[in-house]
Amino acid sequence: MSRAAAAAGVTVLADRFGRIATDLRVSLTDRCNLRCTYCMPAEGLAWMPQPQQLTDDEVKRLVRIAVEQLGVTEVRFTGGEPLIRRGLVDIIAEAARLEPRPKLSVTTNGIGLDRIAVPLREAGLDRVNVSLDTLDPVRFHTLTLRDRHSDVLAGLRAAAAAGLTPVKINTVLMRGVNDDEAPALLRFALDHGYQLRFIEQMPLDAQHQWDRREMVTAEEILAALEPFALEPDNVSRGTAPAETWLIPGHVDAAGEPARVGVIASVTRPFCGDCDRTRLTADGQVRNCLFATEESDLRKLLRGGASDADIAEAWRVAMWGKRAGHGIDDPAFLQPVRPMSAIGG
Ligand code: SAM
Repeated sequence: MSRAAAAAGVTVLADRFGRIATDLRVSLTDRCNLRCTYCMPAEGLAWMPQPQQLTDDEVKRLVRIAVEQLGVTEVRFTGGEPLIRRGLVDIIAEAARLEPRPKLSVTTNGIGLDRIAVPLREAGLDRVNVSLDTLDPVRFHTLTLRDRHSDVLAGLRAAAAAGLTPVKINTVLMRGVNDDEAPALLRFALDHGYQLRFIEQMPLDAQHQWDRREMVTAEEILAALEPFALEPDNVSRGTAPAETWLIPGHVDAAGEPARVGVIASVTRPFCGDCDRTRLTADGQVRNCLFATEESDLRKLLRGGASDADIAEAWRVAMWGKRAGHGIDDPAFLQPVRPMSAIGG
């Protein structure tokens, strides 16, 4: 393509299948202070060398180009663990000054959020997603190899108190590990006014141990939530990855009907509605979580390219997005980068 798109006057991040990416996921680091066993090995990974990582100014510039020139309306900062990036508050503050002002969120494990929630809110952050897979501190340690359960709970409370709402919780259920906790996690979320979303486990682990037969499916998750008598949610899902259900008899922190979400990337893929574009911490554009190719914006940035050149390279990268992630394709290849290095 991109001649076709250029000829059609396309200035947004369009692809050949008519999708337009308006939601940017920015990974700020591949490092993490937890060692979730389904994500990375106990000893960690070979971290990205510091010089390869985008500087704060480079991140700010790419976010500005995405918003001002490519029609991005939402920016989510992730990682690795984004709260360990020193320049985070400053990066958020700069993004919040952009016109048109994008929606800004962070996906975090919640460690340290109790200290930084207010500065993040004051910088312009709109809301957070906090990952929490268990309510049991001992199980948390088994799962993450760190003794930080109480820090995550403190982070959740601080996020809500700072107004980073709705506070969403992301949970990955794993067979024989925490799949007995679905009802308790939902009860916890309802009691505290958090919105819970279960995520099907995807083949993105560094250890390449994902096994479809072992994965807890959306169907199983919904069966486990039967005691809540969930009702279909008639609000249109749009491009949101989570399918949502209403929880009769409950309201959320804003007084709206309470909902629970399931992100069934594997068993009920939503690629046809995907509006995401991804930027890794070392400045590579990925047009899909499962992409096997990347486009190098860092080289352009450091080679003196203009904003217009960078925007054009980003458009070309997105034009090549495949119709679907292809997990069910017999020829499916897991991406070389694990989730933690792509940005989840
Ligand atoms: N450190 C941050 C956090 O914990 O939220 C952001 C990065 S983490 C990779 C983002 C989310 O991806 C977490 O909710 C984590 O549970 C989830 N995740 C990690 N590996 C996954 C996998 N293979 N399939 C589905 N979700 C996964």
